Amino acid sequence: MSTKRPNRYDAVVVGGGHNGLTSAAYLARAGLSTVVLERRDVVGGACVTEEIAPGCRASTTSYIASMLRPEVIRDLRLGDHGLRMVPCEPGLQVPFLDGEILPWWSDDRRTSEEIRRFSARDAATFLDVQRDLKRLARYLQPYFLEPPPDINARGLGRAREALRAARRFRSISGQQIGQMVAFLTGSLGEYLDRSFESDYVKTLYLANNVYGKHGGPYQPGTAIGLLFHLLSGGEHEVQGFYGHVMGGMGSITQAMAAAAKGFGAEIRTSAPVARIEARGGAVTGVTLEDGTEVIAPLVLSGADPKRTFLGLVDQRDLPEDFRQAVEGIKMDGPCAKVNFVLSRQPRPISMPDDADPIRASLFTLVSSLEFAERCYDAAKMGEIPEELWVDCVVASNVDDSLAPEGKHVMTSFVQYVPYLLREGSWAERRDVLARRVVAKISEYVPGFADTVEAMQVVTPLDLERTYGMTEGNIFHGDLNPEQLFFMRPLPGWANYRTPLRGLYLCGAGAHPGGGVTGAPGFNAAHRALRDRRAASRRRGR
Ligand SMILES: Cc1cc2nc3c(=O)[nH]c(=O)nc-3n(C[C@H](O)[C@H](O)[C@H](O)COP(=O)(O)OP(=O)(O)OC[C@H]3O[C@@H](n4cnc5c(N)ncnc54)[C@H](O)[C@@H]3O)c2cc1C
Repeated sequence: MSTKRPNRYDAVVVGGGHNGLTSAAYLARAGLSTVVLERRDVVGGACVTEEIAPGCRASTTSYIASMLRPEVIRDLRLGDHGLRMVPCEPGLQVPFLDGEILPWWSDDRRTSEEIRRFSARDAATFLDVQRDLKRLARYLQPYFLEPPPDINARGLGRAREALRAARRFRSISGQQIGQMVAFLTGSLGEYLDRSFESDYVKTLYLANNVYGKHGGPYQPGTAIGLLFHLLSGGEHEVQGFYGHVMGGMGSITQAMAAAAKGFGAEIRTSAPVARIEARGGAVTGVTLEDGTEVIAPLVLSGADPKRTFLGLVDQRDLPEDFRQAVEGIKMDGPCAKVNFVLSRQPRPISMPDDADPIRASLFTLVSSLEFAERCYDAAKMGEIPEELWVDCVVASNVDDSLAPEGKHVMTSFVQYVPYLLREGSWAERRDVLARRVVAKISEYVPGFADTVEAMQVVTPLDLERTYGMTEGNIFHGDLNPEQLFFMRPLPGWANYRTPLRGLYLCGAGAHPGGGVTGAPGFNAAHRALRDRRAASRRRGR
């Protein structure tokens, strides 16, 4: 019997990140013979659980599930494939060095009561702001699982697109349009200064925003996070949902991989794609780094736009202006991660004694808007800020399968570090990053350094080299307004198609962008399936 695997498929998916797996599952469910080709020896991309020390596992990159689409959870029956999430309660909390701590509960009224300790006016404003933001976010919500308006449509198509947008926004008031534009273009810092008087409250909002983005909180375009975080997610489609994933974030992608295989997809790991092949303006398949050819009339790339169009597609197969536009996509990842194994549960000094393990499992160390602005200023000049903004999640508090008894696993996301260092290399400076993260945590958790048993430092360069994210950008392209909606990945190319017939972009570089949502993967698969049906109808005529 021949053991040679067939190398001819209806569809190839480049990259087994969560979006690639989502696409593959929908393509296979529709009856297409589908293969996923992943360069690493594990699927999941930036949504994985990995061993960081013997017997200790961590979500090495993404660490909280917030906007995973309920449709994807349901359609792929991720629950049946082992996915279980426990809501974060609170969703986040900020300890302060003066002994205060401010949690953000899922119940706005409860959070408002917490805020009342600092300002009665802010407690009332918080409820108004949340109500307004939730209403505005609902206008954007439907675009999660459909392409943004097609700005290239002409004739009847253009009228249809205008009608679609008009229908989505038909009940929006003039005042809400003003608010929407302000959130899409304004700065988070100025908005918070205008709306709230307490610095504690402003810091709480800050801690819930600008993750992974470029720009200090006073930079135009940073207010958009306020809306983005209120797009719904999770099994029960809750606005502003945050969930701990049992078994770490890798449980999401393991469940997706199982679903895809259940529908008949094949998944190959340690299978790096070297080239996306094309002839006569249409894609014909891919060639792996080991020379293996895989033939398919449909290729969906879950790799980021720069990697896909500048690294995998031959430059002669793409229009020069398209390639140049791709080169201009802002990536330049501004974050890092340090994952710890600890001998003792870390508890900030201001954590109440009666805080249950779920409450004590997360805390964000950022002291003020000005502090964050200073961090960004240093990072944009290529420096590792002296003091860092660190977001900590003690995952083992919620899930004891991650570490043996007596040990804890904590992941620490660092906002604002440079991809390109002004001096030295990341190989030389990773220890500086690690020392500064430990120093920051120690300010809030006395004696922390003595509890560190193992540590994994993931620099922006590691995100590029290990996880395949160009320039370490965690969203496959910054989430700034000029790279969102009908401009993602590029103006006029937000419908997942590319200049090459049969090649689609299905990863976070496509609309609606980064985060573990499954949305780009869902949308790209459906676009490709619709195009395939249309082409076969045309052939049948
Ligand atoms: C440190 C960090 C923290 C984050 N925190 C959160 C969080 O808490 N919550 C959240 O929702 N989001 C978070 N994110 C963002 C989120 O993880 C990503 O935006 C999302 O996972 C991107 O998914 P993707 O499938 O589009 O791409 P990826 O996960 O990047 O997957 C792309 C895959 O393609 C593969 N690939 C690339 N090139 C090739 C090739 N030539 N051949 C074969 N395979 C290839 C890669 O190896 C990778 O597996 C975080 C990301 C990082 C890095």
